[in-house]
Amino acid sequence: MASIKDYKIATLGSHSALQILKGAHDEGFETICICRKGYRKPYESFKVADEIIEIEHFHDFFEIEDQLIKKNAILIPHGSFVAYIGPEKVKDIKVMHYGTRGILEHESDREKARKWLEKAKCKTPKIFKKPEEIDRPVIIKFHGAKGGKGYFIANSPEDFYDSIKDFPEDEKYVIQEYIVGVPMYTHYFYSRVTEELEVMSFDKRYESNADSIGRIAARDQLDANIKTSYTITGNMPMVIRESILPEVFEMGENIIKVSKELVGDGLFGPFCLEAIVDPNLNFYVFEISARIVAGTNPYVDGSPYTWLRYDVPMSTGRRIALDIKMAIEQDCLEKVLG
Ligand code: ATP
Repeated sequence: MASIKDYKIATLGSHSALQILKGAHDEGFETICICRKGYRKPYESFKVADEIIEIEHFHDFFEIEDQLIKKNAILIPHGSFVAYIGPEKVKDIKVMHYGTRGILEHESDREKARKWLEKAKCKTPKIFKKPEEIDRPVIIKFHGAKGGKGYFIANSPEDFYDSIKDFPEDEKYVIQEYIVGVPMYTHYFYSRVTEELEVMSFDKRYESNADSIGRIAARDQLDANIKTSYTITGNMPMVIRESILPEVFEMGENIIKVSKELVGDGLFGPFCLEAIVDPNLNFYVFEISARIVAGTNPYVDGSPYTWLRYDVPMSTGRRIALDIKMAIEQDCLEKVLG
């Protein structure tokens, strides 16, 4: 029978790699971390990597791919992996890798992601086709913006044209209704081995300067001409009102159901719905991530929710390793490989 000793778990040294590698260790796998030169220290110091392979840039990944194949490594893609290698290149990966083949084009293309969310009956913020249509607060999101940097808020067409002057003309953007509420990000896990959806944890982001603007009076904000930005600097753990949990499960289950119409056998593994929850407890989902998100990092030793279900500290990284382990032991590894 195949054993987990025949395989190694590998990931790029960034994003949620500490959690992924630690989780793999906890399930008994040997681990490999692929690091950029100068970035190996955390992976050595926290003792999560049995082996470190150094590359100059992450886009040189394909140069060391053969080494990974020889070692029978299973690669775990995460957010930085997709960002550095590009969603289209993910399709060219030859080494065994965890995750749903072809799903990334549906999450990284805003239009496709929105259709997926709408089909799954998630409420989404309204999109305005033209600036002239702006009749309420909107958030302008630039396609290339990383981590919400450079987004701006407008209340009217005039407001919009006043702010857009500061940006290059050819920059692509979307005008989205601004939902006044609180951000809540739900971390799910769907296993193809157990065919069950789990709610792993929740987080909220710590965004600069949006999360600190309230520290100064509105009058001072105006005097200083402060513009809101949403540059992500970290993630904070959160638990959710228990009475909303049934809806949270339903949203996740609908996402999985619809994903089966989009690609082959559908989405599996970790995914995240990023939502703003308004005072009437409506979830407005503005983004879906079809892979592990950095918001799971506060839960290296498990979340309050995973503690309810598991007798060991179960992070999302560890849950991935457990999924792979179960697939190996049940001789159905192909179920979890992209
Ligand atoms: P990433 O791709 O890294 O997740 P991003 O650049 O796509 O980030 P978003 O996640 O779309 O940026 O948004 C950044 C932040 O802006 C969110 O965390 C949230 O605080 C705020 N935000 C986004 N959309 C809305 C909205 N429709 N209403 C209110 N706030 C929003």
